Amino acid sequence: MKKYAIAIHGGAGTILRHLMTAEKEMQYHQGLLDAITAGELILNKGGSSLDAVEAAVISLENFSLFNAGKGSVFTHKGMHEMDASIMDGLTLEAGAVSCVSHVKNPIHLARIIKEKSGHVFLSGLDAEDFAYQMGIELAGDEYFYTQERFDQWQEVKDSDTYQLDHSDKKETGEKKFGTVGCVALDQHGNLAAATSTGGMTNKRFGRVGDSPMIGAGTYANNKTCAISCTGHGEFFIRAVVAYDISCLIEYKGLSLKEACDFVVKDKLVKMGAEGGLIAIDAYGNIELPFNTPGMYRAWKNSGEETKLRIYE
Ligand code: ASP
Repeated sequence: MKKYAIAIHGGAGTILRHLMTAEKEMQYHQGLLDAITAGELILNKGGSSLDAVEAAVISLENFSLFNAGKGSVFTHKGMHEMDASIMDGLTLEAGAVSCVSHVKNPIHLARIIKEKSGHVFLSGLDAEDFAYQMGIELAGDEYFYTQERFDQWQEVKDSDTYQLDHSDKKETGEKKFGTVGCVALDQHGNLAAATSTGGMTNKRFGRVGDSPMIGAGTYANNKTCAISCTGHGEFFIRAVVAYDISCLIEYKGLSLKEACDFVVKDKLVKMGAEGGLIAIDAYGNIELPFNTPGMYRAWKNSGEETKLRIYE
């Protein structure tokens, strides 16, 4: 069997260690394990990295503790507006969607946009209309409701502030990030990346983060790497993070590790941007850098154990 590899994240905004209970930690581990297993099963059978990243992200979207799909945060208007994108490193084809409120799995819609819309990026009600026409599963507001997200929104809903996922201002003043993503290398040597998010609690004005933006939150190119980001989207958009890493490899000859460390631990830090990413290259090298206290993550190379981590 040829080698394959996969990595997933559930956001670079972990609950701080002293607030994490053993029970919660077990739930997060289970969510990560289910998702990486969903992707790995496909890779193990010789399936495509594109199918694998979609399957893993669907599993993460269906797991309510992460900020994507079910479990997405509330907007200022008390809604959910989800963003997602997917990219195929073989063809450089991509699909993206922003501000959809009733699509059960936005990453699946992004995939169908890539394949059937003739466009790359759709948004809002018209994107939902396209989803409906394509027979994609829709869900009512009640499906996306979770008490924890509602309570997070109550804390800030009457203010102008928006919150990154798991913000815990009372305890620490720290900002936290949600979002989920997956990158994979399949046995045919093809890379793919996928990212999905509910964005920021209390976001307004149709705000869109980096997650659905090809080149910012998501990028894949067989010649270089596949990347999925999590962090303060406004900075990740301005730094064009995912494409920047690919360019450092393609044009400057940096290794995956050198490129990731430079962007996440130097460039973004100097900009004041918190977050992290998962990255994989065509040799199966995996990098999971972050400049926050933790990042929900799991990774696996074929023939090796699955590794799950939350903190450093
Ligand atoms: N990057 C996401 C956004 O800005 C947030 C996150 O990663 O939690 O929408």
